[in-house]
Amino acid sequence: APANTDCDVVVLGGGPGGYSAAFRAADLGLKVMLVERYATLGGVCLNVGCIPSKALLHVAAVMDEVSHFEALGVSYGKPELNLDKLRTHKSGVTGKLTGGLAFMAKARKVEIVRGYGMLTGPHSLTVEVTTGDAQDKTGENRTITFKRAILAAGSQAVRLPFLPDDPRVVDSTGALALPFVPKKMLVIGGGIIGLEMGTVYSTLGARIDVVEMGEGLMPGADRDLVKVWEKHNAPRFDRVMLSTKTVAAEATPEGIKVSFASAKEGQPAPEAGVYDLVLQAVGRSPNGRKIGADSAGLTVNERGFVPVDVQMRTNVPSLFAIGDLVGQPMLAHKAVHESHVAAEVIAGELLGDEKLARAAFDARVIPSVAYTDPEIAWVGLTEEQAKAQGKKVHKGLFPWSASGRALANGRSEGFTKLLFDEETGRIVGGGIVGMNAGDMIGEVALAIEMGADEVDIGKTIHPHPTLGESIGLAAEAAHGSCTDLP
Ligand code: FAD
Repeated sequence: APANTDCDVVVLGGGPGGYSAAFRAADLGLKVMLVERYATLGGVCLNVGCIPSKALLHVAAVMDEVSHFEALGVSYGKPELNLDKLRTHKSGVTGKLTGGLAFMAKARKVEIVRGYGMLTGPHSLTVEVTTGDAQDKTGENRTITFKRAILAAGSQAVRLPFLPDDPRVVDSTGALALPFVPKKMLVIGGGIIGLEMGTVYSTLGARIDVVEMGEGLMPGADRDLVKVWEKHNAPRFDRVMLSTKTVAAEATPEGIKVSFASAKEGQPAPEAGVYDLVLQAVGRSPNGRKIGADSAGLTVNERGFVPVDVQMRTNVPSLFAIGDLVGQPMLAHKAVHESHVAAEVIAGELLGDEKLARAAFDARVIPSVAYTDPEIAWVGLTEEQAKAQGKKVHKGLFPWSASGRALANGRSEGFTKLLFDEETGRIVGGGIVGMNAGDMIGEVALAIEMGADEVDIGKTIHPHPTLGESIGLAAEAAHGSCTDLP
C-alpha cells in the first residue's frame, strides 16, 4: 500500500454487509471510510428489502387473523385501507433504523462519502460525489486511497427484458412503494420475495396469479412444509402456474397483457392474462461488474459474483468482498457474518494481531425464512437434499395439531420437523411451517452448530405452552422416548 492513504479501510456499499464491516473495523481501531450512493445507510435490506416488507407483512398478518375472529365470537367491520398512512408507517420503521445507523457511524467516526464509487486500482477508488440522492451529482470526483477495501456493493433485481417499461410493471422495490392496490396482480417468480409481496397485496384486496418456472413454489424448502402453506393460502390465488414461463407482455389500456408457455415440452400453454400490476421477482444479480473490477485486477465470475475464500479475500490481496456480491444465499444475516470476518482479518493484518488475522467464515448452516402466513423456515440439510446425497437420516416430526399453544392461537396447521444423522444421532437439519416459524428456527441452527443430538434437544426443558416446545417434542419423537439415556 502507498505510505499515506486516506484511510485504513474503505467500505464500498452501506448495506447490512457494508455498515457492519465498517462498524466492526472502526471498533477494532481502524480508520474507516464508507462509500454509499444513496442518502441513507442500510442498503437493500433496510430501505427496500427485509424491513419494509416485514412492516407490511405484519399488517397483513393482523388483518388476516382478525378476519377469522367472527368464528371465535368477536366481530369487526370490513377493514378500511388508508394507503398513505400505511406507507407512512412503513417509512417510519425504515427511517428509525437507517437514522440509527447514521448515528452509530458518527459515534464511531466512520466517515461517510456519498456517491457512486469505482475502483481505480488495488489501493484507490474514485467517487462521483452526490449530495445524497443518487441522481443528484455535484460534479465533484473524489479519489480515496486505502490500505484495504471491503467490497459490499450488493445486488439488484433481475429484469425480464421483454416486460414493457410501464409503471404497472414493478420489481420488489416498486411493489414495496405500494403505488396502489390492483384488482388483479401477476407475481412472476414463486420464491420467497414474490410470495411475501403476493401475501401483502392479496390481503390488501388484490386477486393474485403466480407463475413459476420450476416444478414447485418456494424452491429450496422441503415439499411437506410448502404443502401446508399452499393449503392455507389457496384462497388467495386464482391461478398458480407451475413449470410455466412468462414469454411476452404488452401494455394495453386495460392492463398488462402477459402470455405464458409451458416449461415442459409438448404441454399446452396457460391462457394469457391481463393485469393491473405485474411484479417481477425472478431473482437478484450481483453488482460485481459495476465497480471498476478490471482497473484493480479483481476477478469477477461469469455470473457477476466476486469469488472469495473463507477469509473473504478476493484474488487481489488488498481487496475483500462480502454479502450478496460474493454469492448465495443472498441474505442479510449471511452478509453481516461475512462482514465481521473481513473486518477482523484486515484488523489482524494491519494491527499485527495474529488471532484476529485467523478469523474465517465457518458457519455450518445459514437459515432461510419465508415470512409468509404461515411462515416457512428451514436450516441445514433438507430431506430432499439428504435423499439426493444418499445420506441416511431419520426424522422427528411434531404436528402442531397436538400443540396446546397452536390450538389456542387458532393456528394448528403447522409442524416442526428435525432430521438426525442415522450414524451419529446428531441433528443435521430442520424445517418448521407455522406461525412464527422464523423466530424459532434459530434454536435449530444453534443445535446444529453445537452438534446436539436427539437427547440433548429432547431433554432440554422448553417452556409450556409455547410453539418453541415443538422443537423439543420433535426430538423426542425422533428418539422414540428419551428415557433410555446413553
Ligand atoms: P445491499 O443491501 O444490496 O447493499 C449494497 C449497498 O451498496 C447499497 O446501499 C447500494 O446503494 C450500495 N452500492 C452499490 N454499488 C455502489 C457503488 N458503486 N458505489 C456506492 N454505493 C454502492 N434478507 C434477509 O436476510 N431476510 C429478509 O427478510 C429479506 N427480505 C428481503 C426482501 C426483499 C424485497 C429483498 C429485495 C431482499 C430481501 N433480503 C432479505 C435480502 C437482503 O436484503 C440482502 O441479502 C442484503 O441486503 C445484502 O446485503 P449487502 O450488504 O450485501 O448488499
